[in-house]
Amino acid sequence: MSTHDLVIRAGIVVDGNGDAPVTADVAVDDGVVTAVGQDVARGRREIDADGAIVAPGFVDIHTHYDGQATWDERLLPSAWHGVTTAVMGNCGVGFAPVTPDHHQRLIDLMEGVEDIPGTALHEGLSWEWESFEDYLGALESLPHDIDFGAQVPHAAIRVQAMGERAQSGRAATPDDIAAMAKLVRAGVEAGALGFTTSRTLNHRSVTGELTPSYDAAADELVGIAAALGAAGKGVMQLVTDFADVDKDFELMLAMMRASGRPLSFSLAQSPIAPSTYLQVLGRLAAANAEGLPMRAQVAARSVGLLMGLACTLHPFMTNPVWQRIAGMAVPEQAAIMRDQAFKAEVLAAQTDERNRNLIGGRLIHWYGSMYELTDPPNYEPAPSDSIAALAQSAGRTPEDVVYDVLVGDDGYAMVYVTSLNYAQGNLDAARTMLTAPYTVPGLSDGGAHVGTICDGSFPTTLLQHWVCERDHDRIPLEFVIQRQSRDTARSVGLLDRGVLAPGYKADINVIDLDRVRLRRPEIRFDLPAGGRRLLQRADGYRHTFVSGVETYADGEPTDGLPGRLVRGAQPAPG
Ligand SMILES: [Zn+2]
Repeated sequence: MSTHDLVIRAGIVVDGNGDAPVTADVAVDDGVVTAVGQDVARGRREIDADGAIVAPGFVDIHTHYDGQATWDERLLPSAWHGVTTAVMGNCGVGFAPVTPDHHQRLIDLMEGVEDIPGTALHEGLSWEWESFEDYLGALESLPHDIDFGAQVPHAAIRVQAMGERAQSGRAATPDDIAAMAKLVRAGVEAGALGFTTSRTLNHRSVTGELTPSYDAAADELVGIAAALGAAGKGVMQLVTDFADVDKDFELMLAMMRASGRPLSFSLAQSPIAPSTYLQVLGRLAAANAEGLPMRAQVAARSVGLLMGLACTLHPFMTNPVWQRIAGMAVPEQAAIMRDQAFKAEVLAAQTDERNRNLIGGRLIHWYGSMYELTDPPNYEPAPSDSIAALAQSAGRTPEDVVYDVLVGDDGYAMVYVTSLNYAQGNLDAARTMLTAPYTVPGLSDGGAHVGTICDGSFPTTLLQHWVCERDHDRIPLEFVIQRQSRDTARSVGLLDRGVLAPGYKADINVIDLDRVRLRRPEIRFDLPAGGRRLLQRADGYRHTFVSGVETYADGEPTDGLPGRLVRGAQPAPG
């Protein structure tokens, strides 16, 4: 009998096809799964997976590691959460193609849209590229822990094609559109997985300008889409506010019809229009019934904000008294804030209406949707535990209550504001979206919003909250695994992964399901130039393999850096 490189013995195999779990051995040779079944021959390495789940590596199609991947071998936090392939370049922002005179503009955009510190980007980005092809080359010059794919961002090609005229509100001329179409085609020919764009009011440059693609006209987007159609390659990704569902669908359908290419868009429940998502799900089903491969990317929990003294936002950041200590180290701030006289002064100034209208919008004072972030975090908190509710029952003001929370843990305590997917005060809407036809898990934004969220941990929330812990309406394990591995992979054209069957890439998670647990997000100052980011670890991932090489064991990195840039769609095995 031959010997395999690796055999994962007697685990509970959840194969990614949605089939019921079966106890089986999984053999790996040369980075590929070679057998799944009983009585598999010995391996040079044997892993006893008795009692553990053996599942395909997760594919996260919505990340923003465009900068990080150029300077960091590790795509954390995603790699801590079972992710073995990350797709970046979403929402129309990224760093290629670019000419040197536009470096600053793309940094300002990424800082504003995705909350990645500009100083970190300045220090970290080498800008050794102009074309998208050269950018891919720069990405490949560094080894990585996991596989990753890039996409051509609309903002970058708009700036490249239109220069100073690229801001929102300025229409592209036919020549501009032709130039953008050419850049997108060059990108996908070089190996980009697709083209991405943003039409949301939430996406602004750090200077306050709307993202350049915000109101790009239909002829521009259809012209770009047609270039993908001509290339016969690439997917499209779009984020919009769905303020006018008919209009948004008209545009997306026109892009799909002009190109014949798959399209996915971001979907969440808005607190202002809490039933619009149902209308969108209906339109999504209708598009698929028409034969159009459209998918909605949906979130595993509320897309909210983490706030604290060490985060980008907190309720006192605009308070004139608090601003006196704004420049200090967090533990010093907490020490001063514990002084009752200082607290009284801050709270007195906080009642000033002027402060309520400054940065952060209303969210930083949205006490009815604000919860203390517990350890371990509770991502489906009861409305009766909100800061507003706690304040009311204690006869205090919400500001008084949240102040005391924020000085905790030496100033590193946090509050969690449930913004999207929480209009009913629970995650029922998220469940509806996660289990609806034609949706895939997405929106983790791994690598982005590093001072306000840490949603790269979404895959772990699917396992922990939806499979194991929710007290009602859980989601079956095999469904969650299928959606987070095979279905996400297929949605971006990667047919070589996401399934545990002979011939597929040996991207594998060995998971102790009863130990799967998110830890509390923590602040680290480990971006280039000492930039700050929130990171969140998880327990329960016993082994993660990429192309048959172990990358993480119990959350600790190995020496293995088998991750590769994925250039273009990948065919299914044999
Ligand atoms: Zn995004």
